[in-house]
Amino acid sequence: MMKDFIPHIIDGKEQESRDGARFDTVDPWTRQPWSEVALGGAEEAGEAVGAARDAFDKGPWPRMGFAERGAVLHRLADLIDAHRDELAMADTTDMGKPIADSTAKDVPRSAMNFRFFADHARMSAGEALPMDSGHHTYTRFEPAGVVTAIAPWNFPLMLETWKIAPALAWGNTVVLKPAEDTPASATILARLALEAGMPPGVLNVVHGYGPDSAGEALTQDPRVDRITFTGESGTGRIIGRAAAGNLTPVSLELGGKGANLVFADADLDLAVDWSVKAIFSNAGQVCLAGSRLFVQREVYDEFLRRFCAAAEELVIGDPKSPLTQLGPLASKTHYDKVRSYIETVEADGGTVALGGLGDGWTVRPTVVTGAPASARVAQEEIFGPVVVVTPFDTEEEAVAAANGTPFGLNAMVFTENLSRAHRVSAALRAGTVWTNCFFVRDLRAPFGGFGDSGIGREGGTFSREFFTEPKAVTMAI
Ligand code: NAD
Repeated sequence: MMKDFIPHIIDGKEQESRDGARFDTVDPWTRQPWSEVALGGAEEAGEAVGAARDAFDKGPWPRMGFAERGAVLHRLADLIDAHRDELAMADTTDMGKPIADSTAKDVPRSAMNFRFFADHARMSAGEALPMDSGHHTYTRFEPAGVVTAIAPWNFPLMLETWKIAPALAWGNTVVLKPAEDTPASATILARLALEAGMPPGVLNVVHGYGPDSAGEALTQDPRVDRITFTGESGTGRIIGRAAAGNLTPVSLELGGKGANLVFADADLDLAVDWSVKAIFSNAGQVCLAGSRLFVQREVYDEFLRRFCAAAEELVIGDPKSPLTQLGPLASKTHYDKVRSYIETVEADGGTVALGGLGDGWTVRPTVVTGAPASARVAQEEIFGPVVVVTPFDTEEEAVAAANGTPFGLNAMVFTENLSRAHRVSAALRAGTVWTNCFFVRDLRAPFGGFGDSGIGREGGTFSREFFTEPKAVTMAI
């Protein structure tokens, strides 16, 4: 059962802040606070880093074998599955994600993150290099130390575990700061980690805000060895500067403005279905959202008609209802931001062809046409259910348009022409390209962005490179 107070978990203990400070977390569907949360600051962040430091320097976690650590992580995955409904409801209540998605997608994927990285670390092999001189050099992957993980609110548990699982599997200790809008599932996760047998201090959770709060303190602490951050590109720049002060390696998974290219030779049923999912899932609050849709002119009218018809069928409503496909936006602040973008459309030369504001903090599936490439809605990350649809004539024009923002997280290509699929995938400046699909992930693959979408890659061996200090050992034999 959820409690009406969400504490920090530091060194294995559930805690208030020293001064008793709290803040409210708001259910965006009811628009009412539903729980109080411990409000951490520099003091609590420092205490959590101290606990993680001690657990790393003196505790058993980094010294265990991969199999023993992996067994704890597998137990944690099993506990996540066993607490699926509680975790799913925590995220849904905190940020309005449809419960069907939290239950069937976010929570199972969070369990999978732990299973995958536990097994990946255990099965990982280092290179051995027999040298001409007769020496042998081999690679060891030493845990980096204390990891600060700072997460956004759009996939709370799923993105937190995407960071924590590899960090822990490689023997690090962690301080997690969830987003202030979505604190609940992180505290449940840390409780479950203790229940799974994780030693105290290995996974700490501190709640609070970013600037002048727990988040900022966690990025400035010189006792931290790695910072992994997912959030806005602007915040990434601030965190990058803080990390530079201590020469702390930083992994930045930032914003996106995904291009979705539909060629005339595409399977239109497939393209419509994926394009609707790509922009309206999670109410468009997805870094990977296909928020710029480019459609070849021959099929533009037909595609748009079918796309709008499918978008209009989406069920908007109470995210706690299993039938809901589109809930409210995550917070009043975020709703105001998305609304302000919709209000710029006409002044920037575009038309709202479908959708607009809904009841409460909901936004209906919104389709913008006629917007020039320079319009704010076509350039900036809106992070809502708003898509800008533009026709194109040639492949070159489509690729240039897709590459025409400072972001480069992902892109989608719909075509039945195999050569075009490979050619366009190669030409797109994006960290992930999905051809004739969307959101399909292999956790071994690199994940990250070009340009303003981030620095570094996570996933499989890419997470290993970030969360370890690779060491060369050379032996005369
Ligand atoms: P945000 O940048 O506002 O906040 C993210 C986290 O950073 C929160 O926990 C916040 O408290 C913290 N924070 C804010 N300022 C900070 C500071 N100065 N120092 C330390 N911590 C600070 O982002 P958000 O609104 O929570 O999330 C939405 C953004 O995340 C979008 O831009 C989206 O594209 C991006 N995102 C990217 C990916 C990816 O994998 N590339 C995935 C999901 C979301």
